[in-house]
Amino acid sequence: MSQSTPTAGAIARLIQEFSRLPGVGPKSAQRIVFYLMRAGDEQAKSLAEAITSMKQQVKLCSVCYNVTDTDPCVTCRNDQRDRTRICIVEQPQDVVAIEHTGVYKGLYHVLHGAISPTEGVGANDIRIRELLARLQNNIIAEVILATNTNLEGEQTALYLHRLISPLGMKVTRLARGLPFGTELEYADDFTLTRSFEGRQEL
Ligand SMILES: [Zn+2]
Repeated sequence: MSQSTPTAGAIARLIQEFSRLPGVGPKSAQRIVFYLMRAGDEQAKSLAEAITSMKQQVKLCSVCYNVTDTDPCVTCRNDQRDRTRICIVEQPQDVVAIEHTGVYKGLYHVLHGAISPTEGVGANDIRIRELLARLQNNIIAEVILATNTNLEGEQTALYLHRLISPLGMKVTRLARGLPFGTELEYADDFTLTRSFEGRQEL
């Protein structure tokens, strides 16, 4: 009796897949899977296709390393953006959060992580080399360090500051309006706008 039917196995597998997603516990995973089981074929198929085409079409911009389906991305190609400012963030979600405030009109650079000795992430594991090449080959007036305000984010900002300041450009850090431990993507628009406007030179 303990042998599960193929159908039950398929359900269990999907529940396991959903449980691995951030913010989805086993309970929610189960709810989603039973919902999909009852939903029409069309909806399940559309979800599966959306996931597949996201993986196939989305790549990283060769200039700023944000996620994009065109290269360079729309922000890097946009002539209306201030090309003398680069805002450095940890993740693509942070670009979304800052863009949502509308407070910033410059360009971005996405590191894809933060320096974390405890997790074995060093400077060479994130897009710092690419950033330096960019700073050396373009006329940049200001670099805004918008890494998270947790330990890893602060360490990364400090490291970048030491690296960038000899290049002679202004280096700023978002103001302290963001409480320590905040991940940028979860900050509300008001706080993020205020800390952006109050950014200070390091
Ligand atoms: Zn780009």
